[in-house]
Formats: sequence, structure tokens, C-alpha cells
Amino acid sequence: MLIVQKYGGTSVGSTERIKAVADRVARTRREGNDVVVVVSAMAGETDKLIRLAGEISDSPPEREMDLLLSSGERISAALTAIALNELGIKARSFTGRQVGIVTDTAHTRARIEKITATQVKKAISEGYVPVIAGFQGTTETAEVTTLGRGGSDLTAVAVAAALGADLCEIYTDVEGVFTTDPGIVPEARKLDKISYEEMLELASLGAKVLQTRSVEFAMKYNVPLVVRSSFSDKPGTLVVMEDKDMEKVLVSGVAYDKNQSKITILGVPDKPGIAARLFKSIADAGIVVDMIVQNVSSDGKSTDISFTVPRPDIQKAVRITEEVVQDLGARGISVDNNIAKVSIVGVGMKTHSGVAAKMFETFAEQGINIKMISTSEIKVSCVIDSKYTELAVRVLHDAFDLAKGD
Ligand code: ASP
Ligand code: MG
Repeated sequence: MLIVQKYGGTSVGSTERIKAVADRVARTRREGNDVVVVVSAMAGETDKLIRLAGEISDSPPEREMDLLLSSGERISAALTAIALNELGIKARSFTGRQVGIVTDTAHTRARIEKITATQVKKAISEGYVPVIAGFQGTTETAEVTTLGRGGSDLTAVAVAAALGADLCEIYTDVEGVFTTDPGIVPEARKLDKISYEEMLELASLGAKVLQTRSVEFAMKYNVPLVVRSSFSDKPGTLVVMEDKDMEKVLVSGVAYDKNQSKITILGVPDKPGIAARLFKSIADAGIVVDMIVQNVSSDGKSTDISFTVPRPDIQKAVRITEEVVQDLGARGISVDNNIAKVSIVGVGMKTHSGVAAKMFETFAEQGINIKMISTSEIKVSCVIDSKYTELAVRVLHDAFDLAKGD
């Protein structure tokens, strides 16, 4: 098999950890596989570099930030290659450019456009283990770019797709994807297998094990992923295309997000074009709106609209909304920062009914008031008072029997 192994920051966090990575690569080779390694910067390194730039400037040029940040991954790639050579394994480190990872020109959040991987393929055929610096590429004009925070996951998945690898293993400091945050529910169970779609919902809902873009990429190119710990030999969680087994499970996981705020516009005239006007202004400001609820107007003249935005964007969103409110002659706005979104996710919902009802019932039994609801084919989300987040997660985990296993 050809296996791409990606090691995150804590997995290469010290020279001791790097030697442990080399041991694991050696073992994987002994089992008869070809291995390509992708590494993150050593834990804390990227933050440290950002801090250094911040000590000099409040707004360092993004081009310079990219060259600066890309160096963190180069250090760990070279050290890992040194550790492999020390074990008698032929290994060579590669920068993004040497791999031929070509991106667009969006500094600090570039998108991969193509990967040639000529030198990497050659190295594999000559019996080397390529060790690739994650998180980086270059533009057509050889400018260094980075792929956004957590971008080494994307490097690994994209390289796996380009090489037609059989498997992409993502090594981190947790044992896999859990049914919910074990910090809230100690009985949370590690999932053996989950679909890309479910993983995307869980990741974008705040269960930050994998970078969201890397999961989208894996789904698009059907790259089988395994999320597992570099600190143990446990098998981890397989992230793959949906299959028949997965449908049998009603709910796979409970996610929560405490990082949103709610804005309500009161007394909005009930006529065409209002929502278009409001959400266009918000979108133009680059703010991503998550949930939207509009009430039916009881008097036929005016209605209320509520929506949620990421908490860091709330001030900007309020400013824009206030302008629109003035123009439209709405009554005013109110802001709620004490909200949390709690969601249940599972492909089984596609074929089972009553899942949402059970969620609402579970909340009702605890006296938890639901402020907003949204659903998709594989997810039901409720906005509730943030002080009930942990309780809500615990009772849902229990109600859907997630601790027990299939
Ligand atoms: N080092 C980068 C970061 O901290 C990329 C990564 O680790 O995936 O975001
Ligand atoms: Mg990461």
C-alpha cells in the first residue's frame, strides 16, 4: 500500500516526538508499505511566529507572513528526515514548492490549484521516504503561500489524491472522532467509522479534529482518511464514503458551538426584497450567516427576522444591520451573545423519522428553551441559552444511546 501519514504539531512537538514519528514510519515500512510523510510545524511554532511579527507590526504584509509561517513546517520536515536517516531509512524533506503544490495568490488562505509531485514520485520510486512540509505552496510566479490555519491536513489529503494513495492517516493527539466532546461527556465513544458528510458537519460545528477544507477535498477525490493518535497504537476513526452500516445508526454524534451570536430585527416590513437587502449587505462584508429564522407576520404588515453570525464578527454585523434597519424603517434590533448551537448529526436521519422530535422532547424534559431550529438531511441544530450547553450535550448523548455502541 501507499500510505500518506500526516503528523500534527503535538506529534512533532519535540525532538523526542520526532524520533517517535520516525519509529512509526519505520514500522509502517517494515510492514511492506510505501510511506509519504507530511508534517505540521512543531506545536506552538506558528503562533510564536505570528506573535513575533505582531511585536513589529499591527498589520504585517501577508506576503511576508506567508514566508515567515511556512518556515515552521520546513523545520519539522527537515528534522523528521534527519531522524529517519538516523534509523537507516532513506528520507528526503521537501518544501511545498519542491512538491509542485501550485496555489492561487490569496496569501495566508491560498487554494491549491494543482500538484505535480514529480520529485516526490521519483523519490518514492528510488526507495526514499519523502517528508513534506505541510501548509504551503507557491503561486505560478513562485511566491510562497500558506493554506490557512490547520492547512497541513489539506496538504496531506491533496498529496494523497495526487499520488493515488491507498490511505491518508492523520496523526494527532486524540484517538479519533468521538460521539461528542469527552470533556463534557466522559462516556463519549470513539467512532470506528464515519462518513465524509458527517465529519464535515461535526468539523464545521466545532469538533475541530480535521480542517474542514481537507475533509471537503477528501470527499471530492474519495481519499479514505484515518484520524488516529501518534501517542498510542489504537486504530482511530475511518472517514470514508457513506455505506449501508452507517444508515443503521440514527445519530452518530452531538456537536456544539458556543462561538456564535444572534441578531434579531424587530418589526421588519413584510414585503419582497427585505431579506435580500439585509443578507446581501452582510455577505458583502464577508460575514458568514449560519441560521436564519423569519416569523410569519401576524398582522400582515411586519415580521421579525433572527440570524446568527460568528461571535468575532458581531460588531461589524450589528453596524451593517443597524444601517439596513434605518433604511427599511424596522423597529429596532436586539443582540444575544449568550447562545450556543447544539446539533445532532447522522446519515441515519435520511431514512428514519422522529429524530428531531426526540431531540426537542429531550430538551423539553430538562426545561431547555429552544430559540432557533434548523435542519438538513443529516443534521438537526437548535440554538439555546449558552448556560445549558453542557447539560444539553449530555442529555442528547444519553437519549440517543451514544455511549453504548452499535
Ligand atoms: N502550522 C499551521 C497551523 O498551526 C498548519 C498546521 O499545523 O496544519 O495552523
Ligand atoms: Mg491540525
